[in-house]
Amino acid sequence: MAKGTLTLTMIKPYAVEHGYVGPILARINEAGFRITAMKYLQLSPRQAEAFYEVHRGKPFFERLTKFMCDGPIVAAILEKENAVDDYRSLIGATDPTKAEEGTLRKLFGASIEHNAVHGSDSDENALRESDFFFSQLERF
Ligand code: ATP
Ligand code: MG
Repeated sequence: MAKGTLTLTMIKPYAVEHGYVGPILARINEAGFRITAMKYLQLSPRQAEAFYEVHRGKPFFERLTKFMCDGPIVAAILEKENAVDDYRSLIGATDPTKAEEGTLRKLFGASIEHNAVHGSDSDENALRESDFFFSQLERF
């Protein structure tokens, strides 16, 4: 089978706390993504700031990085043809009130700040974000 491209997702603390890990992973599988790496961890403030470095200076940066450290997250690398764009379609708009019906953020997000999941926004960032969480030994 031909290998697809990669994207990096995080199930954010709000969604983990509310018991949505199972339902979100089920939808990821149903949508045809293959999980090539996965871990359950809690980010430190420094790690969250490093991950979201591109947003430093924006008005929501401090709330975002604090929220991402509130509890454990699930980080995973997903593989599929056209992984970045297809996953962004599956998760929907950043603001759950604007996300399409059936998308992960519509189903499981609370607000634009407390949305349910992250998805990489380019192939380049997918690689950078995958390297942030996973060594080569942790990918299958
Ligand atoms: P993510 O990177 O988490 O997948 P995204 O790519 O849809 O989300 P970004 O613009 O990269 O959106 O913003 C990163 C995160 O910052 C969002 O998921 C959200 O939690 C928060 N955020 C973005 N815009 C706002 C905003 N206007 N007000 C509050 N929080 C925001
Ligand atoms: Mg983003």
